[in-house]
Amino acid sequence: MSTCPAGVDLGPLNTLALPGHAARYLRVTAAGQLAAADTGGRRFVLGSGSNLVLTGDFDGLVVHMAIPGRRLLHEDADAWYVGAGAGENWHDFVQWTLAQGWPGLENLSLIPGTVGAAPVQNIGAYGVELAEHFHSLTAWDFEKQAFFTVDRDSGRFAYRDSLFKQEGWHRDGRVAITAVVFRLPKAWRPVCGYADVAAELVAQGIASPAPRAIADAVIAVRRRKLPDPAAIPNAGSFFHNPVVERDVAEALKASHPGLPCYPQADGRVKLAAGWLIEQAGWKGKDLGPVGMYERQALVLVNRGGASGADVQRTMAAVQAAVREKFAVDLTPEPVFL
Ligand code: NAP
Repeated sequence: MSTCPAGVDLGPLNTLALPGHAARYLRVTAAGQLAAADTGGRRFVLGSGSNLVLTGDFDGLVVHMAIPGRRLLHEDADAWYVGAGAGENWHDFVQWTLAQGWPGLENLSLIPGTVGAAPVQNIGAYGVELAEHFHSLTAWDFEKQAFFTVDRDSGRFAYRDSLFKQEGWHRDGRVAITAVVFRLPKAWRPVCGYADVAAELVAQGIASPAPRAIADAVIAVRRRKLPDPAAIPNAGSFFHNPVVERDVAEALKASHPGLPCYPQADGRVKLAAGWLIEQAGWKGKDLGPVGMYERQALVLVNRGGASGADVQRTMAAVQAAVREKFAVDLTPEPVFL
C-alpha cells in the first residue's frame, strides 16, 4: 500500500482527467492481497476510472483493481465458460474471446472499463446485455473479510442495474469484484437490429454478418460518435436513458413527434437521453471547460483543465434545460467521489 502526505494523484486514473488525490492507495493484482492489507476506513473501489467524477481529494483508501488473467475454464456441448480477472480491459477481453472463436460479446465491443466493473451496471449495447452471458463472479466483502460468489439469479440484473448498485455496495466501497465467469453459448445468433449497427453492416455490404463483422461494425459506429478519452477526456454516456410511464411518453410524443420511444417489457417507455439533450440545445455546447460532445450529446467532455465542480455545474445546467423543455429528470450514470 502506498501512503504519502501529499496522497496519490488520481488525475491519471480517471478518464475525465479531473484533479484529485487519495490519502491511501492500494493496487490489487492478486485477490489474496485483499485479505492481507489494512483496508479499514473510508474506501473506494476503482477500475479504470471510466465511470467516475472526482469532486476533489479523497480522504480514504482507493483500492485499484488490476487483477489480470483470462482463460477458458470449461467447455460442454452447449457453451464455453470463460473466466477473467477484474482488472482486464473489457474491450481487449471481448476481442480476445472473438479471436478464440467464442462469440456472444461482440455487441459490447469498445465499452470502456474493466471486466470487474462490467457486472456492476450490467453494461449493455446494441441489444445485448452482459447479464445474458454472465455465469458467475467472485467478490471480496471488506466488512465480512470474506470472498463470496454471485450467480446469474442472485446478481439481480436489470437495465444498467445489479445487486451491487441496488445494495449500494459499489457506492460505499463495501465489496470488490475480483473475477468474472462468462457463459458463451455455442448456438450463436447475430443481434443487429439497432439502427446504427444495421446501417453500418448495410454500408459495408454485409448481409449475413459473422461475430467479427458485428464487432467491427460496432467499433466503427462508436469510433465515429464517441470521443477517445486520451484526446478528449470523458466518461462515456453521462446520463441514464430515462424510463417513464407510458402516459408520460405519449403526452411527450404528442408535443414532440420526433421523440424516440422504446417500449419496455414492464409497460414503461425508454427515452433517448442524448436526443433530449440535443433538443434542449446542449449538443456541442460548453459551460466553462465542460460541455456536451458535438457528435453525441450524451457524452460530457472536459475541454481542458476542468475540476469536479465544473462538471457538476454543466451537469446541473443540462438537467435544468431538459427538465424545462420536457419535464423529464436526467440522472447521471457515473459514480461521484
Ligand atoms: P443510441 O444507439 O443512439 O440509442 C439511444 C437510446 O435508444 C438507447 O437507450 C437505446 O437503448 C435506445 N435504442 C436505440 N435503438 C433501439 C432499438 N432498436 N430497440 C430498443 N432500444 C433502442 O445510443 P448511444 O448513446 O449511441 O449508445 C450506443 C449503445 O451503447 C446503446 O445501446 C447504449 O445503451 C450503449 N451504451 C452502454 C453503456 C453502458 O453499458 N454503460 C454506456 C454507453 C452506451 P439501449 O440503452 O437499450 O441500448
